[in-house]
Amino acid sequence: MAALSKYYSEIMRNHNVTCAYVLHPNESCSWFLIKTLPITIFRVSQFFVPLYFLPLLANSKKLNKEKVYEVLEVFVSSVVGGSFTVYIAFLTICLLSNIFGRSSFWTLIPIPAMTGGLAIFFINDKIRSFFSHACSIVVFDILMRDGSLWPMRMLKTHRSLRTLLFMVLSGVIVDSMYLNSDSVFWLFKPLKKYQKPIEKVPSESKPIDRHHICHHKNSCDSHILHVFKTYLMLGMALEVLKAFFGNFGLFVRNPLSGFIHVIKHIKPNYLLFIGGYPTLTRLTNCILNNWLQKSTRLNQDISAVIGGLPFYFCANETPILAHTFATGIESIWHRYKKYSDPETKTYQWLTKIPFIPLVYIFGGSLMYTSRLFFPWLAPKFLQRLMMLITNCKFDIIGERVHSFWIPEVII
Ligand SMILES: [Zn+2]
Ligand SMILES: [Zn+2]
Repeated sequence: MAALSKYYSEIMRNHNVTCAYVLHPNESCSWFLIKTLPITIFRVSQFFVPLYFLPLLANSKKLNKEKVYEVLEVFVSSVVGGSFTVYIAFLTICLLSNIFGRSSFWTLIPIPAMTGGLAIFFINDKIRSFFSHACSIVVFDILMRDGSLWPMRMLKTHRSLRTLLFMVLSGVIVDSMYLNSDSVFWLFKPLKKYQKPIEKVPSESKPIDRHHICHHKNSCDSHILHVFKTYLMLGMALEVLKAFFGNFGLFVRNPLSGFIHVIKHIKPNYLLFIGGYPTLTRLTNCILNNWLQKSTRLNQDISAVIGGLPFYFCANETPILAHTFATGIESIWHRYKKYSDPETKTYQWLTKIPFIPLVYIFGGSLMYTSRLFFPWLAPKFLQRLMMLITNCKFDIIGERVHSFWIPEVII
């Protein structure tokens, strides 16, 4: 990446690239900026409407005024944050181009993307971490595809290493949820929550209730079967939804072809992972609890680690590993903030660093720079998202800029 950046900078220096050339041909900066604001808000809203309002419709029975207000608040904040990120970036491109008389590699994307990232401060606290989390998933994906950093290169090459990392992180996340009732988004929650030990005289005569050892209501067999069925159905539902939204037009034109498309696109390895991961975790937990005749924190942790084995079937799905990595870091961070000793002040200064905005500002910059200058590293989702929220402007910038080194790109 670094070598190519130098090459791009060199070529852009030799051409007199301005914001007008790459961003708004035949238009003045002010007219472009006036016109872009409503379009950007509309485009970003288009992205967030299904994300927030479809789950609301799905839970329409439990709907009340407070719930609708809460979703509306989060929606408005997300639209403001998302559209300001894009708009401030456009504004900075024009501003820097006018100050320096031309645009360079740095003033075209990396620096404007960083200033755009400052929009994170306009975002509601509740969803700030969601924005940052989403950004860190894409950054992890990009770094792994790139493989310049040696740990990322190792992960990229070795499937077993990716599985091992998933297993360890699964243990960390489940342990953290057990201790803190952590608000991280994960596939399942531990069966038992941490409770302060109460000193009790053990009664030897009390018979052992096998079902209560594991903290689930039914017997171990039926519990494990229930978990397997539930998660298998969830996996199926996710796969069907993915195929449905991936080719919505086909369903409208021909429902039968649409149905065949769904069947063809269901990935068995994905189902093995979604169904297998929680089931193996619970199964191991039940075996350990019954063997030791008690449910312990260590049992849950060991189960979560062993349960992560089915990730091997899905190890090529980088976004899952990226989400796991980001969630693992978040869990460690929450725990650190909660348990670091305020008395001794050991590394207390660390808790003052605003990591969430920093990830969004610098991660976002890496994300947009990769999308434009190193498109082979950018995940497909990012390409579609950038096209949608910038009203295809991002692709126009790409075409114009890449035309310097590949002249035939210009249509
Ligand atoms: Zn301009
Ligand atoms: Zn059990």
